[in-house]
Amino acid sequence: MKKQILFLLLAIAGAVLMAACASPSARQAGQASAQPQKDTTVRVLLAEKQKSATFKHSGLLYIYTRDRSKKYKISRAGALSARALGGGKVQAGTLQSAQPIVLEPAPGKTITFNGNAYAGKIYLIPQGSVFHMVEYVPLETYLYGVLPYEMSYTWPAEALKAQAVAARTFTLKSMETTGKRYFDLYNDVRSQMYKGTGKVYPSVKTAVDKTRGQVLAYEGKLFYTYYHGNCGGATDSVTSWNPGAKAIKPLSGAKCGYDKHSKNYNWQQTVSRQKAESYAASLGLKGKLKSIKIARKTGTGRATNITVRTQKGSKTVPCGNFRMAFGLKSCKITKLSLRKKDVLFKGRGSGHGVGMCQDGANGMAKDGKDYKQILKRYYPGAKITPIKDL
Ligand SMILES: [Zn+2]
Repeated sequence: MKKQILFLLLAIAGAVLMAACASPSARQAGQASAQPQKDTTVRVLLAEKQKSATFKHSGLLYIYTRDRSKKYKISRAGALSARALGGGKVQAGTLQSAQPIVLEPAPGKTITFNGNAYAGKIYLIPQGSVFHMVEYVPLETYLYGVLPYEMSYTWPAEALKAQAVAARTFTLKSMETTGKRYFDLYNDVRSQMYKGTGKVYPSVKTAVDKTRGQVLAYEGKLFYTYYHGNCGGATDSVTSWNPGAKAIKPLSGAKCGYDKHSKNYNWQQTVSRQKAESYAASLGLKGKLKSIKIARKTGTGRATNITVRTQKGSKTVPCGNFRMAFGLKSCKITKLSLRKKDVLFKGRGSGHGVGMCQDGANGMAKDGKDYKQILKRYYPGAKITPIKDL
């Protein structure tokens, strides 16, 4: 008890000291460690349409209905099961409800699901005969769980900082279009990779904290700060990848020149003829494959359309779809030959080639450039802006 009183007194003294201290740097230091500043909550979809799920919790766990009318807690680490009851109800532990049920780990504790540890509140949202799982996590904390899965945590600090600003901007831009959906972002490539914040790498924490609240804006507005693995020498306009997208200067393409060190800069892949023919058949083109040709490409050599021809005729498809079906690293195809047993592809880069080239960001940081220079190169014309100024 004495210890608790002493702690309380120290906490009050600390708060008085912080309030009295007028210097901005001291204020920021206080915010970075305790995070009293209100942060946007991001709702991340962890799993959809579940019939059941099992969690492990590392310690004290609160379980309650959204309106908190029913609640209980489990004090010790252990496992917890949840299941859909049908009729729009869900059960977690001993609690049953037609409302979402919230699992909230105590500060410093986590909930593990599918091998990933989460520190935020997990909502189990019933719908008909299933339930969905969504984590509610503060934006800045969420980024701790994005960065290491979108870029290696061992990369230089300035590359990680550029990634933090790009990922933060992408998140907030995505949230503008959430509408009435029960979540904001997917936890995979449909939005950004995210694997929870149960494990936080110090290098990642530093990159996020040092750029706290900074986003990229163009003409005073957020935009989709796309990024990809390797551009193969130059990035491309967003319209080359998504013809329906709005062409803006920061996504119009840029020269890179810092990504040659990566194994993804030059690649070679083969796809069996059988696989190529079954793909053609899926387009309604049965029979023997006659040719696969690039129908159109951008000025930097990225294919936008591919024509597949069989005995039955031909079809031209967007390269993005073709690439996914064939598992190709990118559409920057430099050589394509139809051989007896397979199709040989040679190419450059990985990913869609729009926005920031991550290998390039790594190369620039190793060359002594800072995150502002990196962002300026890959998002030309965009300004680094505090969120609160937008
Ligand atoms: Zn590049």
